[in-house]
Amino acid sequence: MTQKLLICEDEADLRALLEITLQREGFVVRGSSDGQEFMALFEEDPPDLVLLDVMLPDVTGVELCRRIRKHPQHNDVPVILLTARNDEIDRVVGLAVGADDYVGKPFSVRELVMRVRAVLRRSQKETPAPAPEVGRIRVDVEGHRAWVDGQLLDLTAVELKLLNLFVSKPGRALTRDAILAGTWGADHHVTERAVDTHVKRLRQKLGPAGDAIETLRGIGYRYTSAA
Ligand code: CA
Repeated sequence: MTQKLLICEDEADLRALLEITLQREGFVVRGSSDGQEFMALFEEDPPDLVLLDVMLPDVTGVELCRRIRKHPQHNDVPVILLTARNDEIDRVVGLAVGADDYVGKPFSVRELVMRVRAVLRRSQKETPAPAPEVGRIRVDVEGHRAWVDGQLLDLTAVELKLLNLFVSKPGRALTRDAILAGTWGADHHVTERAVDTHVKRLRQKLGPAGDAIETLRGIGYRYTSAA
């Protein structure tokens, strides 16, 4: 099946290069030059993956990513951010709002194509068997929903994967590496520090039930179903 990509990049030359390259790779590609045009195209025909430049004329790519993650129907479309190289803040914030990956500018189109394929592969991977209910937390991976004490949670795609990983391995110590592999796949480009950021946000969203995720100093985390 042909996969559809949607790009938001305000630099016309770069946008054209991305479109041509990715079309040559067999993707159906649409380009937009600002956030407004992007959201209109996104609504019109939701893509299989989006590439978002961070610095756009009307809005940031990070904000667009946030909007996608809050979308009522298509909140799980994978997002790759195109950031200024070494801009750690864009990366950390981008991952915190649920971006799947980022590519630092300037990048080789070859590398970008590899990242696009890797993220698409990951997003289509079979999700682990759902853990129906562990302690106070219930996760429905296929329905992309989770509850604490019957209360629906507002989680990003990454947070849901992370929570599912924890509840599927109760009582088990999980290293940051194992969490990276279990949440982002083996070919991730996410730092261990980003794991801590995501876990922190997940805990906050879980409220008192977040205490079930214990920090294991120097190792990682452990989920205790007793909480
Ligand atoms: Ca730009």
